[in-house]
Amino acid sequence: MSDAGTLDEYREKRDFNSTPEPSPESPGGQPKEEPIFVIQKHSATRLHYDFRLEVDGVLKSWAVPKGPSTNPRDKRLAAPTEDHPLSYANFEGVIPKGHYGAGQVIVWDTGTYRNVTEHDGKPVPMDRALREGHITICLDGHKLKGGYALTRFKTGEDESWLLIKTADQWADAQSDIVRNQPKSAISGRTIEDLSKES
Ligand code: MN
Repeated sequence: MSDAGTLDEYREKRDFNSTPEPSPESPGGQPKEEPIFVIQKHSATRLHYDFRLEVDGVLKSWAVPKGPSTNPRDKRLAAPTEDHPLSYANFEGVIPKGHYGAGQVIVWDTGTYRNVTEHDGKPVPMDRALREGHITICLDGHKLKGGYALTRFKTGEDESWLLIKTADQWADAQSDIVRNQPKSAISGRTIEDLSKES
């Protein structure tokens, strides 16, 4: 699962001559020391948050309609989408009308993560955790911190996962973080700012 072949679907869905999104070959996709995560707020046909984790040189991706929560009681639906190239982690901009995913994209949060998945007290590597449908990670982002679990509960055509905050010191049942912190973590812009520019 580490070969570039996992980006075929990403490539097929896009025309890189007319979308500002990076092609799989564009620079900026070199792995750093610690794996990164990014959450892109994407105002497509329906607003959603794309949750992406660097695994084996690509960004494994889920679309989360309601976005992440800091409340451990919230179960946020996460639908897997195609792998994205690492260079996509910095992408902000407007995908033109008529293109796949047309609409505004901002980097809502980004940072590094640690895989803390365990099974019977033993660490589970990311590729196995993904395959088995249970991942626990610790995020060090601008906005999100601490543990999150991603758990698959439905396989097949409509494969579905849940994104749930771990009950740790960064959990906060009161605040609505996606509502209270709408700005890009890298540029300070909002989706509305991009709508005005386009
Ligand atoms: Mn999206």
